[in-house]
Amino acid sequence: MYTQRPAEFTYYRPTSLDEAIELLAVDGGMRPLAGGHSLLPMMKLRLAEPQAIVDIGRIPGLDGIEEQGGELRIGALATHASVASSEALRERCGVLAATAEGIGDRQVRNRGTIGGSLAHADPGADYPTVITALGATVVVQGTGGEREIAADELFTGVFTTALERGELITAVRVPALGAGVGAAYEKHRHPASGFAVAGVAAVVEVDGGKVTEARIAVGGVTGTPVPATAAEQAMIGIAPADEAAIAAAAAKVAEGLSGAIGDTYATGEYRVHLAQVLAKRALTTAIEAAA
Ligand code: FAD
Repeated sequence: MYTQRPAEFTYYRPTSLDEAIELLAVDGGMRPLAGGHSLLPMMKLRLAEPQAIVDIGRIPGLDGIEEQGGELRIGALATHASVASSEALRERCGVLAATAEGIGDRQVRNRGTIGGSLAHADPGADYPTVITALGATVVVQGTGGEREIAADELFTGVFTTALERGELITAVRVPALGAGVGAAYEKHRHPASGFAVAGVAAVVEVDGGKVTEARIAVGGVTGTPVPATAAEQAMIGIAPADEAAIAAAAAKVAEGLSGAIGDTYATGEYRVHLAQVLAKRALTTAIEAAA
């Protein structure tokens, strides 16, 4: 039945990370709440019926963004708005700031968090694709202590991740992009929500007038972000101005996209086509940024 009201639940508001982790370890019916912009709609639709909510939103110290030894560390509670406006990110990893700026609408950006978005693992979400191309590291903490998960190992299926029960994402580390490296994310926005019907992130290194390294990830098309390895290999050695070669490499993103999602808005076939078009745009912009 469509009620628009969540089932009953108990509400906890821990004031420290340790307290939150202890609460989440109690049983499987506990669910962390960050910005609430994915969990609360799911609860209202009764797609999620947690027995208890552990509101981590006011735990101090989990929302900072700082540069640390060649990387940028983004706290899990950093909102999309604060990622978009971070000077450090704009200067050293502008693709992530630009991605945050393109999420949903102002309300969503003011409440939604990077940790919540990654943990939710919506196939149409933007950060998962971008952090996969960036080769980011996700820092998680549970009763067993802290561990790190490579971005391309975090997403295991539609709305599922490699997080163990009770573990919280505490931070994401992305590389500070140096000279000669450019990155871009291009998406086809769903007109109602802004989610990616398809989205492609590219990180490209140019040296001596040739592309020497490329990382490409495709999101929105299948259940998880897909690294486009054939397209990455095809990019190596290409001259930045060689549009035909970039287009040919971009077309290869289709090779890793079996099982494309189709729905009332876009067929799987159309999503694969979009991915090829968006890959060319993302690669061209990334190369321009690298030059
Ligand atoms: P919550 O809703 O609080 O939690 C989401 C899930 O993650 C829950 O299962 C929760 O238990 C878990 N969780 C939260 N934090 C943690 C943590 N630190 N560690 C472990 N588990 C955690 N997203 C896009 O990418 N692009 C868009 O264009 C876009 N458009 C949107 C438009 C609308 C109208 C709405 C409502 C949402 C949109 N979103 C979009 C999703 C939005 O970015 C959400 O804010 C985000 O997916 C979830 O973040 P949150 O902080 O709100 O998490």
